[in-house]
Amino acid sequence: MSAPLGIFGGTFDPIHYGHLRSVEFVAQKLRLQQVCFVPVATPAHRSAPQAHARHRLAMLELALATHPRFRVDTREIDRGGPSYTVPTLQSFRDEDPARPLCLLLGVDAFLHLPTWHRWRELWDLAHIAVMRRPGWSAPATLPDWWQQHRCNGEFRDCSAGCIVTIETPLLDIQATVIRQHLRAGIDASDAVPVAVLEYARRHRLYEATTGESMHAV
Ligand code: ATP
Repeated sequence: MSAPLGIFGGTFDPIHYGHLRSVEFVAQKLRLQQVCFVPVATPAHRSAPQAHARHRLAMLELALATHPRFRVDTREIDRGGPSYTVPTLQSFRDEDPARPLCLLLGVDAFLHLPTWHRWRELWDLAHIAVMRRPGWSAPATLPDWWQQHRCNGEFRDCSAGCIVTIETPLLDIQATVIRQHLRAGIDASDAVPVAVLEYARRHRLYEATTGESMHAV
């Protein structure tokens, strides 16, 4: 069976080291051949991003330029409208029916899975790798759907349907805090690649005059 393709969706408003370091860790652990970063057009479960899609894309390109196994995938932005994950996974699946897919999710996003559109179809389309995040943990008793799909360590010999929890490094970085810092003129270079910071500054993406959601798709 071929190596799984990683798929990592998000608003990336902006991309930061919490995303990059966690995904690097998972990619190495699960020997993912490639990881596609898929920026959302309109998020289905949260407020619209502050920066316009073209800026979020440009920042992603800058951040991923030094990662040969990471690439930006624009299919949700090209599709427009609410960015539901199941149709996105289905379109990856249609490109190569045999290749295993692995959806990467922070535990905060993962715990909301049962609120997602057509979420029960996920198990036919992809594996899920759950990444740790400070302030979030698995419940003491796992819900039935988690128990049912949980597998230890590596994926079983199939192209979809397993949940693995990866002990990623805990990185206390949030895009919301980064936007607040940039608005207040506080240095964020410990959380964001310098090329991304320079881009955000040049385009005045997170300054006090640019209100939240002003530049949504
Ligand atoms: P915001 O503060 O705007 O909500 P965010 O980084 O949490 O920003 P997204 O860019 O949409 O939001 O996150 C994309 C994915 O990255 C989600 O699965 C989220 O759980 C995960 N993620 C975000 N930050 C971290 C982090 N510090 N560690 C691990 N996973 C993270």
